[in-house]
Amino acid sequence: MSVKFLDLKAQYASIKKEIDAAVAGVLDECHFIMGPNVSAFEKEMAAHLGVRQVITCASGSDALLLALMAYDIGPGDEVITSPFTFFATAGAIARLGARTVFADIETDTYNIDPAAVEKLINKKTKAVIPVHIYGQSCDMDPIVRAAGGSGVRVIEDCAQAFGASYKGRPVASIGDIGCISFFPTKNLGCYGDGGAISTNDDALAEKIRVLKLHGSKPKYFHSMVGINSRLDEIQAAVLRVKLKYISGWNARRREIAAAYNSFLEGAGVTIPREAAHGGHIYHQYTVRVKNRDMILEHLKKLGVEAGVYYPLPLHLQACFKDLAYAGGDMPVSESVSKDILSLPIYPEMTEGHIKEAADALIGACQKYNG
Ligand SMILES: *Cc1c(COP(=O)(O)O)cnc(C)c1O
Repeated sequence: MSVKFLDLKAQYASIKKEIDAAVAGVLDECHFIMGPNVSAFEKEMAAHLGVRQVITCASGSDALLLALMAYDIGPGDEVITSPFTFFATAGAIARLGARTVFADIETDTYNIDPAAVEKLINKKTKAVIPVHIYGQSCDMDPIVRAAGGSGVRVIEDCAQAFGASYKGRPVASIGDIGCISFFPTKNLGCYGDGGAISTNDDALAEKIRVLKLHGSKPKYFHSMVGINSRLDEIQAAVLRVKLKYISGWNARRREIAAAYNSFLEGAGVTIPREAAHGGHIYHQYTVRVKNRDMILEHLKKLGVEAGVYYPLPLHLQACFKDLAYAGGDMPVSESVSKDILSLPIYPEMTEGHIKEAADALIGACQKYNG
């Protein structure tokens, strides 16, 4: 047997009838952009998250960009975020000409360290982007407190964490804005690119709705330079079906993580730690392991797919040379990036898959670290 990292076909098979009907419905109408599925999905999402407004857009990356644009962030401004995230988080800041200021992560959750954020806030700071990495919320209370006291906006990067919660509150409803990705491999993925922004600020939501349509309002009259960023009807139709299942799927991910935890006890790997605030939805099940690259190779030979998120922290990426960070500046991110390893996790995994992946890792650890 082999264990896939993620099996989108298995998920499609489980909801095929509903998805096919939803997509066929869009094709029958040939209303592909800004139609009834998009507006219905935005309302359903807002209700699901318990926020006043959800604005869909073309990707999680665009959600971040639009959030920063909505606050007029640009040259001369600083935005604080984690170096231990997908490129898009810092890419959006750089695109707008603002300066990315990195704050290192916590050793046990891999999320941005609120104490480090607080120290970096200054007069130039316009926003902080906590990234809920691997599906676990950052420690939001101290971040919101530090930002709020200085007029700094909190933009949650929820791309990996749709359905996660912090002290019982859904992520994307805690900061000023939440940014969500529907990339197919995310917990709530569509069948192409897609994203959304959540907020309780009606005026800000209205500004984002204009910005995502080239700043056009009324049509062909432009008071702002926006971008073209829309979720299309086919994706919205798919997401409306999948939204009904996401809570069950996330619950199943938690069960799988618990099964991995018990298999891996005593195997010499660092298993994920769920913070006291709870609500982890295990977008990734990520361990730390010595001799990671050899172990990765060994798993591959056994047919167990594994991943590394991410091998090089953002402060050391070539494109951010001008930010003038050096090796050693973010010691936790640098050390974690050398030994993290994500095992297969998806709701349709069987008990057999879980055991096989865990056994493969245990065997690899005995071979290389025993
Ligand atoms: C996937 C991801 C994004 C970007 O989302 P896209 O929809 O792929 O543009 C942003 N931030 C994080 C942390 C992500 O994992």
